[in-house]
Order: sequence, then structure tokens, then C-alpha cells
Amino acid sequence: MAVPAALAGLQAEANCPVCLDYLRDPVTTECGHNFCRCCIQQSWADLEDRFPCPVCRHSCRERHLRSNTQLGRMIDVARLLHVTRSKKRRREEKHLCEKHHQVLTLFCEEDLEVLCPECTRPPDHQGHQVRPTQEAASHHRQRLSCYIRPLKKQVADVLRLVGSQERKLLELREKLQDQRQKLTSEFEQLNACSVKCLPSASVMIPGSWDGAPIRLWSLLLPLPLPTPLCSLSLSLSV
Ligand SMILES: [Zn+2]
Ligand SMILES: [Zn+2]
Ligand SMILES: [Zn+2]
Ligand SMILES: [Zn+2]
Repeated sequence: MAVPAALAGLQAEANCPVCLDYLRDPVTTECGHNFCRCCIQQSWADLEDRFPCPVCRHSCRERHLRSNTQLGRMIDVARLLHVTRSKKRRREEKHLCEKHHQVLTLFCEEDLEVLCPECTRPPDHQGHQVRPTQEAASHHRQRLSCYIRPLKKQVADVLRLVGSQERKLLELREKLQDQRQKLTSEFEQLNACSVKCLPSASVMIPGSWDGAPIRLWSLLLPLPLPTPLCSLSLSLSV
């Protein structure tokens, strides 16, 4: 049996004879027929001792039937198959020509348009390069990859450059931090020394080391410079 026919048969078997929909919580009567639990309960609602099967009229003795869980799982599978198939059908329908309702199998290179064989009848697309969609797709895919390859390389190069610039910036920042620390500690030494040697000079020193050497020089010039202070001030002003 072909697959579509087999699926149609399976779906027919998965339907309840009462509501004609997929069996919900299926139960099996003693005559072997399957129904939704709610459908059979409804059809036996007003009965007392004899419960006829809605299909074969066999008189069942039991009103309360057990769920057929195995059948229930099969119904779930059948429902899933149905959904998948209708999705596939919808996809196939999308590939039909709206004008001629034929499958779109051709591609016009001039108009960049997918066509059905009927579309190519003169006078439309006369003298245009028309070829099968698969052939056109692989051709255009190749062309695209020719554009994409160098672009990808350019992107990689730019990313590498950005990375190296960021590393350089980081190194410069670290160097700057080092220099700042060195200058600060030199200034602190200088300040400590000047407080010891020249109490009046320390009053003139600002909180930051910026500009401090000039003020120190102007203060210290008339006085004899102690040797360590002289060398420190020189290194700071360079
Ligand atoms: Zn039912
Ligand atoms: Zn029956
Ligand atoms: Zn067409
Ligand atoms: Zn054309």
C-alpha cells in the first residue's frame, strides 16, 4: 500500500464512530469497538441494564469500561502524522503558480522570478534565460559564496586589527599608571625631605605633584640645596 493511503487508513481507524473525530481517552467494548469515553457514556446515559454498541448493536453487560491506553498512544501518533502531513501539503501548495496552479519549476534570470511551465508561453519571458529552479539555485548559491568569502576574510582582518589596537591601548594604560605611581612616590620623598630641611617650603607645595617642581625651585634657589633634594627635584622636572 502506498504511504498516503496507509496514513489515510490509519487516520480512519483512529476516529470515533460516534463523534467522527480522533478518539479521546479511547475505551473498547466487549464486541471490540472503540469509542471516546465521553461519547459512549453519553450514548448510554439513560440506560439501566443493557448497553447496546452504537456500531453493531451488541448488548454489552458492563457500563464502566477501562481505558485502552495503547490505542490512546497510537491515536497521538496518528494525530502527529496528520499535522506533519498537512504542514507538508501547505508547503507544497505555496510552490504552486498563483495564475496557472502548476508547480513552480522554472526561474527567469532576467526577471528574477520563479515560473511554472505555463508562464513561459509566449509572449511572456520571450528571449529570456529560463532554467530549472534547482539549477538556478545552485548557480546563484555559488555566486553568493564568491561574494561572501572575501567579505568574511575582511571581517576577520578587521577583528584582528581591533584586537591588537585594544591590546596596545591596555599596555599604554599600564605604562601610564606605572609612571604616575613612580612620580607620586618621588614627589612624596621630595616633600618629606623638604619638610625636614625647609619647613617654610612645605607650605607652598600643592596637593598634586603637577607644577610642584617650579614652586620648589623658586623657593629653594636662594638657599643652598641639600644634595638628595637637588637630584630628586631635577628628576621630577625632566
Ligand atoms: Zn467520540
Ligand atoms: Zn460493537
Ligand atoms: Zn504560471
Ligand atoms: Zn522573464
